[in-house]
Amino acid sequence: MGWWWWKPGLNLSTARRDLLSYSLSSHFSLSCQMPRIAVIPGDGIGVEVVAEARRVLAALDDAETLDLELVDWDLGAERYLRDGIAITEEEFRALADDHDAVFLGALGDPRVPGMEHIKAILLELRFKLDLYVNFRPCVLPLARLSPLARTQKPFRIDTFRENTEGLYTGLGGSFKTGTPDEIAIEKDLHTRKGVERIIRAAFEYAESRGRGRVTLVDKANVQRFVGGLWRKVFEEVGEAYPRISQDSMYVDAMAMDLVRRPDHYEVLVTSNLFGDIISDLAAEVTGGLGLAPSANIHPGQYALFEPVHGSAPDIAGQGVANPIGAIRCVSLMLEYFGYEHLGDRIETGVLASIENGITTPDLVGGKSSTEEVGSWIASYVESAST
Ligand code: ATP
Repeated sequence: MGWWWWKPGLNLSTARRDLLSYSLSSHFSLSCQMPRIAVIPGDGIGVEVVAEARRVLAALDDAETLDLELVDWDLGAERYLRDGIAITEEEFRALADDHDAVFLGALGDPRVPGMEHIKAILLELRFKLDLYVNFRPCVLPLARLSPLARTQKPFRIDTFRENTEGLYTGLGGSFKTGTPDEIAIEKDLHTRKGVERIIRAAFEYAESRGRGRVTLVDKANVQRFVGGLWRKVFEEVGEAYPRISQDSMYVDAMAMDLVRRPDHYEVLVTSNLFGDIISDLAAEVTGGLGLAPSANIHPGQYALFEPVHGSAPDIAGQGVANPIGAIRCVSLMLEYFGYEHLGDRIETGVLASIENGITTPDLVGGKSSTEEVGSWIASYVESAST
């Protein structure tokens, strides 16, 4: 039976809405007239999934007339290899000053093993625009999508990853390189300001969404100084949120527990490196990397949206990349700019496509192409009226 018989549900039930909608709240959202968004498809599957996310956005625009301006940016490995420069200073300034947000597909190409263009574009945007909140919502919409056999019901885990410090600052160096005595040092930098603001962001989010638990993930038994700072600040900030259960977990125990009982956790807050790792795990237990969106935010100022997955060169160009992570970035972005009901509509479309088996092969039983999934969800959002 074709998908056309299926009548789109027009409204999310409260339970589904709680599960699917991001409800970013005024703490994170940005209100501005006619937001200007730079679209950077980037490399590998980034190009394919962004095309589908744009298709969904265009369909929504046809139905609703959105006040958004999309500006195409041709940045990525191809440009870097062609011109020898990833982004000029002038372009970087224009990206930062003349836009309200960036929508990025993925950056990464085996022909640029030093990742120079990723550092020049993505990491510079995170650092220079101080996008300190890396919000990674992982939603398991249907229990059967989880690789964990014991999973019985839908759930979500929202990770707040510190995005500007830790092991990502590039501080360090090597000595006696190329000799048997070679030394490499990587500095793990954490400031009270950096730690405090990400912990506060996690609590604010939990409070505004009515989430009952915030868990700090660290390795305080080994990283005594860094872990000590995080634990102290977590306790201090947490005092203002007495309604919310608060606990701390070592990252190794958390990796184990995310497999054992993932639905026990609600909001996780952690450092840059642990956040990178733990959110991939959270994405996998909630259906896979291909489903997960993320937002890099400086609240009230600027945001960059990107799927959690990378450029996946192994499947690029084959038409099998799952576009849902990128499509969910669009719904996250719409919520960020205050179009919460339209974000919900995309989420309903995503859920409907999964329920109807219109999925790419990374999801069990999926046989559809990237384009078929994008087109299905686009038709859904266009035909569902508010
Ligand atoms: P990065 O370091 O940029 O995060 P990575 O190489 O670690 O990238 P990804 O590019 O995210 O990892 O991909 C890891 C694997 O997951 C890929 O090889 C691919 O097979 C699979 N994968 C990732 N994204 C998708 C997707 N959207 N659809 C289907 N499979 C995907």
